[in-house]
Amino acid sequence: MADATPFLDPDPSVAELLASHPSLKMDPLCGLMLDGVALNAIADAVGTPCWVMGGDTLRTRVRRMQQAMRDAGLNVSLHYAVKANDHLAVLSLLREEGAGADIVSGGELARALKAGIAPAHIVFSGVGKTDAELERAIGLGIGQINVESAEELDIISSIASRLGTRATITLRVNPDVDAGTHAKITTGLAANKFGIPYDHAAALYARAASLPGIRAVGFATHIGSQILSVAPYRAAYARIADLVRTVRAAGQTVEVVDCGGGLGISYRTEPEGQPEALAGAMKAELGGLDVRLAIEPGRWLAAPAGLLLSSVILNKARGNEAPFLVLDAAMNDLLRPSMYDAWHGIVPLSPHVATLPAGPAHVVGPVCESGDTFARDRHLPPMQRGARVAILDTGAYGAVMSSTYNSRPLAAEVLVEDGTWHVIRPRQSLEALWQGETVPAHLAGTA
Ligand SMILES: *Cc1c(COP(=O)(O)O)cnc(C)c1O
Repeated sequence: MADATPFLDPDPSVAELLASHPSLKMDPLCGLMLDGVALNAIADAVGTPCWVMGGDTLRTRVRRMQQAMRDAGLNVSLHYAVKANDHLAVLSLLREEGAGADIVSGGELARALKAGIAPAHIVFSGVGKTDAELERAIGLGIGQINVESAEELDIISSIASRLGTRATITLRVNPDVDAGTHAKITTGLAANKFGIPYDHAAALYARAASLPGIRAVGFATHIGSQILSVAPYRAAYARIADLVRTVRAAGQTVEVVDCGGGLGISYRTEPEGQPEALAGAMKAELGGLDVRLAIEPGRWLAAPAGLLLSSVILNKARGNEAPFLVLDAAMNDLLRPSMYDAWHGIVPLSPHVATLPAGPAHVVGPVCESGDTFARDRHLPPMQRGARVAILDTGAYGAVMSSTYNSRPLAAEVLVEDGTWHVIRPRQSLEALWQGETVPAHLAGTA
């Protein structure tokens, strides 16, 4: 596993991380607070590791994004990308705020419905939807299916025809623009598996109009994730706008452009993507087209609202070299550092520890993999056994990517709202780890 790309600017200090995270406050008595609730109180009650989601922060962010669209004079429906954080409480909160759902599997469809999101407010994306998933979605009268290939268009046509209905679809177009993000999260280049090649889109749209069981309403695009600059959005939307004009000139109707998700956040020192700038790009390129617009944000809404609480199991000294700070959280809980070389802020919960002079440490988990590393050479105050930390910006692509590797139970999850907190998933029990496993009779000696 390669080391993370070295950064040229120094890591932000604890004080700088607190300043860039308005949801966090360091209380001189209680220590680190999220949305006004002391994280030590949560850790005392439910233990660590524990995911904590700030519901007030999540609401503030979704409202800001909706307001940015309104302020630009755009009529935009927001479909939250469920894969970022699919907890029912998160989906329910966002449903209350008027969000629909962008889903990529039958499981996410079932969750969205369970959280009370109406089928008409659900958009089905993804490169490989199975027949069973499509049948269920079409049978429910799902709002829109974003079609990712000519092959899939034919499959949807035959399923919808068989069900005696018409599926509302857009074509997900790959605009072949570079979102300038990590290779594992870029999706809008011709080399990626996602979407229909730009040059095939107009012809396929004409074909869609002639197919039974299909109601083609427009185009969708999604160029990647953790996008910090508005330039790739503008480039992609300009290409989609050209496509809309082309197919309209050929006599087709276009009612919808789905602008995708991908807006990035500030994990380290990078400037956060601004919904107002995204709205500006949408207005500039698509505002004059007389289409309904939609967006599919995930990370921007959820990541900064959540954190992962963990305790130091031990501080493994190495003479003059940076010590290993071994946490009780690991890569099975939070995969992003080992999978994407992701940088996450780490803040001590104790106000006394937080102000001690910092020195380099490697922050690792206990899993038997060298890749189980949260941070290398991170400047942190000295922390001993039992000290607690918050790993920041883990509300998206955090708990959802957890596994039970090394037979580590899934961590507890807590939602903070209105100055109080609720366990929204208790820590998984050990017995639950093998629930559903069976041992054939001839092996069942002592089990
Ligand atoms: C993952 C995904 C999103 C959300 O991406 P974020 O970077 O979390 O905003 C939106 N649309 C599609 C099709 C996706 O696959």
